[in-house]
Amino acid sequence: MDIKELKLYNSLSKEKETFKPLEEGFVGMYVCGPTVYSDVHLGNVRTFISFDIMYRTLLYLGYKVRYVRNITDVGHLLDDGEDRISKGARLHKLEPMEVVQKYTNGFHDMMRIFNNKPPSIEPRATQHILEQIEMVQAILDNGFAYERNGSVYFDTLKFHEEKKCYGNLSGRIIEDLVSESRDNLKNQSEKKHPSDFAIWMKAAPEHLMKWNSPWSEGFPGWHLECSVMSTKYLGETFDIHGGGNDLKFPHHENEVAQNVGACGCQPANYWLHTNMLLMNGRKMSKSDGNTITPQQLFTGDSPHITKAYSPMVIRFFILQSHYSSTNDLTNEGLLAAEKGYKRITEAAKTLEGLKASGGSGELDQEINTALDQFVTEMSDDFNTPRAIAVLFDLVTKINSIKEGHLDIKQISDATLARLQSAYPSYLNEVLGLELEAGGAGNNGAMEHAMQLILELRADARADKNWAVADKIRDALSAADITVKDGKEGTSWSLN
Ligand code: AMP
Ligand code: ZN
Repeated sequence: MDIKELKLYNSLSKEKETFKPLEEGFVGMYVCGPTVYSDVHLGNVRTFISFDIMYRTLLYLGYKVRYVRNITDVGHLLDDGEDRISKGARLHKLEPMEVVQKYTNGFHDMMRIFNNKPPSIEPRATQHILEQIEMVQAILDNGFAYERNGSVYFDTLKFHEEKKCYGNLSGRIIEDLVSESRDNLKNQSEKKHPSDFAIWMKAAPEHLMKWNSPWSEGFPGWHLECSVMSTKYLGETFDIHGGGNDLKFPHHENEVAQNVGACGCQPANYWLHTNMLLMNGRKMSKSDGNTITPQQLFTGDSPHITKAYSPMVIRFFILQSHYSSTNDLTNEGLLAAEKGYKRITEAAKTLEGLKASGGSGELDQEINTALDQFVTEMSDDFNTPRAIAVLFDLVTKINSIKEGHLDIKQISDATLARLQSAYPSYLNEVLGLELEAGGAGNNGAMEHAMQLILELRADARADKNWAVADKIRDALSAADITVKDGKEGTSWSLN
């Protein structure tokens, strides 16, 4: 298949560019995965849905894609310097790997519920300690790092003096960082410069996750894992690197520095950054209570919303903004998305029922142009809002035929067949939207969502929290879902 031209906004060049993979027809894509120390929130979900859309579009366009998305299970520190996973383990008296497993399972459940395709490879940082030690050594050998008391720091100033590229991705200016360094030097006990960062950290005796290394018993820095795992699975230079735009600095800037420092080459040719999810106009954040969990959305149990929403309605809502714009979650926006999703999926059913009539084809050109336009919009930096607008134009036509305002005889059999095959595949394959009522689907997204909701209901009942249990029952009944409690457990069905 001839692959259609794809344009994407490259954060590295700060321009929209025509995508040229290293090897024709193949794409290597690395996306920073979650740090598995707490439940995934809806902001994370937005970012992973955005990359799922890119993955699906690349596949649809005919590329063979190796999609690598890691699990961060060591080295991502909190502001107080404690490792996120270690802190979770200490607080809950668990093995660190129990914390990792618990939240990795939760993350996978959530990805399935939102109908995100699994990546081709999902490497974990703790499975790549040897390779991380090797990269630290390579950076030391090249003179871009130094050791202090068992920790190893990346020397950003020396790196920039030689390579002139520290700050290119994020727009940070090294000279500003240099002046900061003079101001703050007294506070930087081991580092030469505040923008230097640890690539290996010596562990305190009470630290739970540590490994032997030539420098100390310690653990790798967070930025290092992505440099190592992208190189291992995609090569020293690969096509696309992605993540939320909050990771641009320092995480991605430091990744570039490490890769260039270790092997002399830029890791990715294209950097794609997704924008943040807001709620009611403010950044979604756990610390000031401006947050909502996917579970709360599925049950309606949050002061921010008036009813429960299905995972597919939430996905549809997310797709109505371009990945590079902020996306403001509001109850009104979700209500509108619910209506829109219903219209767009009902049109798929109407379309399925239309019969070829040996039509004359006056409408063919309009329909074929719209079908091509959908692919053009998706190939233009994955423009989901404009692609969805094209689908709504088609919905208007389909509904006009249904209501008798347009005659099916104006569409030729060939064009009707194309429409009947392309429309559901755009929705399902490219946008990842399930076509069944409420978001049930052939990959069981609805089944997973219902399992989760019924578990929450069972927990509420076990806690004698009748208010929540009743709310869940009422919300399900309003969504035409019947729940039956029997000897064999709880079952559900669509009315
Ligand atoms: P973390 O688990 O914190 O490392 O985040 C996993 C991914 O979610 C990263 O790519 C983040 O950039 C992204 N992310 C975190 N918060 C938000 C948000 N409010 N909106 C969109 N993406 C986010
Ligand atoms: Zn990363």
